[in-house]
This record gives sequence, C-alpha cells and structure tokens, in this order.
Amino acid sequence: MEIDNKSSDFLHIGNKLLNWYGKNARDLPFRQTKDPYKIWICEIVFQQTRISQGLNHYNNFIKRFPDVKTLAEAEENEVLLYWKGLGYYSRAINIHKASQQIINDYQGVFPADYDEILKLKGVGKYTAAAVSSICFEGKMPAVDGNFYRVLSRIFADDFDISNSRAFSYFSQLAALVMPENVGDFNQAMMDLGSEICKPKNPLCGECPVNDDCLAFSLEKTSDYPVKTKKVKAEDLALKYYFVHRNGQFLIQQRKDDFIWKKLFEFPVSISTELEPFIRNVRTIKHKLTHKNLTIEISNVDVESEDVWSRFTAQNQYIITDFEASHDKSFPKPLENYIQNYLKD
Ligand code: SF4
Repeated sequence: MEIDNKSSDFLHIGNKLLNWYGKNARDLPFRQTKDPYKIWICEIVFQQTRISQGLNHYNNFIKRFPDVKTLAEAEENEVLLYWKGLGYYSRAINIHKASQQIINDYQGVFPADYDEILKLKGVGKYTAAAVSSICFEGKMPAVDGNFYRVLSRIFADDFDISNSRAFSYFSQLAALVMPENVGDFNQAMMDLGSEICKPKNPLCGECPVNDDCLAFSLEKTSDYPVKTKKVKAEDLALKYYFVHRNGQFLIQQRKDDFIWKKLFEFPVSISTELEPFIRNVRTIKHKLTHKNLTIEISNVDVESEDVWSRFTAQNQYIITDFEASHDKSFPKPLENYIQNYLKD
C-alpha cells in the first residue's frame, strides 16, 4: 500500500480504539502509575512473557528494586536472581547497566525525551516510544508485533513484516490512525493485540474497529500479517559435567557473551582422573528463540576425597551445595537438572 497516496481520514479508527480502551483497559498494577522506571521495567518484563506468567516476577522485582537508585546499587548477581524464571537474562543485565547510566549521566532522573531514552542500554524503539508516550506525552507509536498484526489486518496490507523496512512502514501506517493521546493509543493497541486481535482466531465480533477492518470484511484475517522469511533455529550441542561429592558440586559463571550471559553452569570439561567416576549421562533437549540445544550432562560422583581435592585445587570452580545454589541463577535446563537430582 502506498501510504503517501492515501487521502482518507483514518483518525476515527484511533478514536474508536481510545474509546474502547477507556472502558476496557486491563486493570494491571503498572497501569496505576506514570513512574517511568516502573513502566520501563514492565515493558521489558512483558516483552516475551504473558501478563499472567510475568506478573508475580514483576511485582517481586519492583518490591526489591523500587526505584532506579536501588537497582543501580544492587549486585548484578542479585538482579539476575530476581529475573529468574523470566529467561532472556541479557535483558536483566542491560536494565541493571541502564539504571547506572541514569544515575551517572542523568543525575538519577529518568530521561523524558524519546531520543534520550533510546540511549539507555538495551532500550529499543518500541520501549522508548512506550515509556515516553505513557509517562511524558511523547508522540511516537510503540510499534511491535501487535501493531504489525492489527494494522495489516485493518488495511488488508500485505507489506512483509520480515522486511527490514517493516518498522518504518508500520510506524507511518500507525501515524494515520493515531490520535492526540498517543500514550493511551499505544496501550489500546497492546490490549487489542493481545486480547482481541490475536494471532490465531481473532475475536472480530468483539472488536471495536471491525466496521473499519478490511481483512474482516473480506474474511481474510488469517492472511495477515504477511511474513515470508522465517528465521531457522540453529542446532547447538553443549556438554556439561555435574561434578559432586557429599552434596557439594562445582559451578562457574558464564562470560558476558553468547547465550546465558553471566548465568552459572557446570564444568564443561574434566580431567581423565575424574572419568572413572561418571555414573550416567543424560541428554536434554531445550529450545531457545533461535537455537535448538542438545545438552549432554555427565553425572560425576567423585567418591575419592583425594581426587576431589586435587581437581578443585587445580581449577577455578566455585564449590556450592543445593541450598546455596538457590541464590544463583542457572539456565533453565541446568536448574531442572539440579532439582531432579535432588528428587532422585
Ligand atoms: S476486526 Fe478482527 S482482524 Fe480486524 S482488527 Fe478487529 S480483531 Fe483484528
């Protein structure tokens, strides 16, 4: 669709959405505040997590880190611990760094301007638009998958959302329907996308803009949005050794690169002296967004005190036990392995 050539007035669509949102906005804890810190955290927490799944995590996180200063002063490992269960741990590392940026570069005051918010570590255009519009009357649409889906259906627009220009294209499309109150409009689009205009089986009968929706009138809602390119998940094999003795086991912290940044893991190699103590090997399949992992974990029950002492003395591993390990964040499959080991 040629956006520039469109002459019709589509503003009534945005106004209908605002009206609907005024009566149907979900009653969520972060809707009672305009505190940019809390809105920012909630936008990051709920980017890949359903509200029902993430709400407890969000509440616990805010309870422990109620403001930028508390978060900036916390230890990174504690921030990771409070992020446990949400996945995407690099986001926790980024919000921690960004909180320190706010303290150092903005005198502890959350920046109000879209372009300044965008400078914060880990903050993308969507989050900057959401925070600036909800908290500071910013005028940028918070374009995400909800916008792609809703707008492409309303206009029966076949612009490919895997195209690198999709963000800019749908931002222009959003501008056609966007009313003055962009903060509420952005939230209305979030609610409509997640509650009504769902990816599969949208509830068009309940939709406030079904009179304006071309895909609905053409009975082609399942044709939109158009996405041609699918990112193929890469296969990746990992190998770990669960080296333990008398309830203690060895771990190390991952580096700040690749997957599972800064989380704790088991040793990735052992000396030949430990090999006779391998009791069994378990293979676990685990999916990340763009990776299919095959994780092989060898259970190494070191019965010899001498061998254990030599191995721990020669390596930099942290010796922990099941109780102390609760204070550390592990990737989900390793966390599950520890829990299952406890049950066996
Ligand atoms: S009518 Fe249906 S397809 Fe169109 S915007 Fe509403 S829910 Fe989405």
